[in-house]
Amino acid sequence: MPASWIQQSGQFLLDLLLPPRCFHCEAAGSWLCDECFNQIQFIDTAVCHRCGTPIDATLKCQQCFIHPLQYIDGIRSAAYFDDNPIRSAIHQLKYRNHKAVAAVLAQFLADTVARHQLAADVIVPVPLHRSRQKARGYNQSYLLAKHLGDLLNLPVNTTTLERTRQTKSQMSLGVQERRQNVADAFAAHNNRLAGQRVFLIDDVCTTGATSDACAAALKAGNAATVWGLTLAKAL
Ligand SMILES: [Zn+2]
Ligand SMILES: [Zn+2]
Repeated sequence: MPASWIQQSGQFLLDLLLPPRCFHCEAAGSWLCDECFNQIQFIDTAVCHRCGTPIDATLKCQQCFIHPLQYIDGIRSAAYFDDNPIRSAIHQLKYRNHKAVAAVLAQFLADTVARHQLAADVIVPVPLHRSRQKARGYNQSYLLAKHLGDLLNLPVNTTTLERTRQTKSQMSLGVQERRQNVADAFAAHNNRLAGQRVFLIDDVCTTGATSDACAAALKAGNAATVWGLTLAKAL
């Protein structure tokens, strides 16, 4: 039996047996306590209409003037990455398979959809490469997508978009390097999303390069529109 399966089942049982504790400060009573909820800086100001970066008065941010995203209709993020509760939430989602956290976070994505009045027919999580998913045992973006699908009553598609090659971590790369790193890393495996409006789900957006590369593949598969939704925006 693979270790990741045992780990996952163990975590699942713990989630069931233990009373909920705040994923940030560990206070008992709920998965996210009121105090930590109030610390989250949601993005509720004007944003760049393309990449979702908070801005003052213009329609586009500087990055979108210089290196515009090419395929995605736009990206919207729920909160700033720079604050602790969101950072711990994403960490737990990514490395500890904390499924209850995914439910709390999916609500933030649903609120973002409502705030920006976005519409879609189907939800697609940004896929991990097969080998990465095997090692981790699950895809954190799928957990978010699944809960968001429940909230919005939309189906989740995981059979069309695939990551065709491994990519380096985007962390230390600049804007152009990030694009080169993920260029052609995704492909549409079939035409099940032809004519469909897609919400593409990822945990963090930095420059939008990954979402844009996914949108290129989805549009090559004839998706009608692709809106990126991410939990956090790293500036
Ligand atoms: Zn707390
Ligand atoms: Zn922008």
